[in-house]
Amino acid sequence: MTTAAALTIPFERIADPAVRDIAERIAEGRRLEGRDAAALYRTADLTGLGLVADAVNRARHGDVVTFASNQHINPTNICTLRTTCVFCGYARLPKEAGAYRYTLDQVLEEARTGNQGLTKEFHIVGGLDMKAGLEYYTTMFRALKAELPNVHIKALTAVEIAHIARIEKRSWAEVLTALQAAGLDTMPGGGAETFSAAVREEIANKKLGAADYIGVHRTAHGLGIRSNCTMLYGHVETIQDRVEHLQMLRDLQDETGGFLAFIPLAYHPDDNELGARLGRRGTATSGVADLKMLAVGRLFLDNFAHVKSHWIMVGTALSQIALHYGVNDLEGTVVREKIYHAVGAKTQQAMSLPELLGLIRGAGKVPAERDSFYNVIRTFDDDGEAA
Ligand code: SF4
Repeated sequence: MTTAAALTIPFERIADPAVRDIAERIAEGRRLEGRDAAALYRTADLTGLGLVADAVNRARHGDVVTFASNQHINPTNICTLRTTCVFCGYARLPKEAGAYRYTLDQVLEEARTGNQGLTKEFHIVGGLDMKAGLEYYTTMFRALKAELPNVHIKALTAVEIAHIARIEKRSWAEVLTALQAAGLDTMPGGGAETFSAAVREEIANKKLGAADYIGVHRTAHGLGIRSNCTMLYGHVETIQDRVEHLQMLRDLQDETGGFLAFIPLAYHPDDNELGARLGRRGTATSGVADLKMLAVGRLFLDNFAHVKSHWIMVGTALSQIALHYGVNDLEGTVVREKIYHAVGAKTQQAMSLPELLGLIRGAGKVPAERDSFYNVIRTFDDDGEAA
């Protein structure tokens, strides 16, 4: 397996002088400024940007691309913000057609049967449901751990944690401590959207603000709960908004070191109010925009070990190409994805192990299964068997 190596940037193949200048500073070990990230978003030299991001990624991870045997469970789509998160097609009001809230038995049934016992991580997120409070989740996590003690529980976005704290009249720390005692291991990064107040006013005006999203993650990190972070892009945000968002994530990572991975999330315009308002349908974002988000994330977030491509949102073909644009981790097996398919994602809802291995090898990379903390736990021989 090819592992981390010295940073080697092919400067002669970078056409844009601005990208070359930034690459030289990276080679000198200097940190990128916000204006550098903006220049990278604006460059027409996608190849040059990719070469730099790939070099930085290879210096950390060699040719290894990791994935997890994970399983998504979305216990409730009932959400108090149903009418104000205008980019969301997943949420329902309590009495609306299609509204659901799983019973404990339904959660356990899905957990047991979803992936023939191969799941090593549950990714559990849902709506802000007034009837899904602390006890709903502590009972769920205890039951999951009792039945499947070796499965990692990555659950509840910062927005959901703040919602539970509000309805229970408890602090974020109290809620997180109770969830941790019940079995919560790490937190996903959803709910960040784009941090800009102006953007939030337009796409999610009642949602937890940027400072509180950061505050919940800071509290979690202080309790030893590591987390991921995201950025929803491709809607109404500007390049400056993206840069400020990345800056806030990098600042918290400097402070706590608690983030595991950065995961850009492409906006899907179908079946949601924002898409209709913007007059957009079908393809969510351009392939160029998707690759730039990942590559700039790799370069600006120099204190993040992992950048993940979410094939559910950008498709498997783009995710494969992204492995040459700074990405070292792919979304895993997933099993049953609901949230992005509710807004028109046409991608697969699950991926088998052979499919994932083929995708990674097809990019000339070396697949490896990881645990939820990104430690490699299994490599594969050419037949896809564990090596
Ligand atoms: S994005 Fe999340 S918080 Fe907003 S309506 Fe959808 S489920 Fe609710």
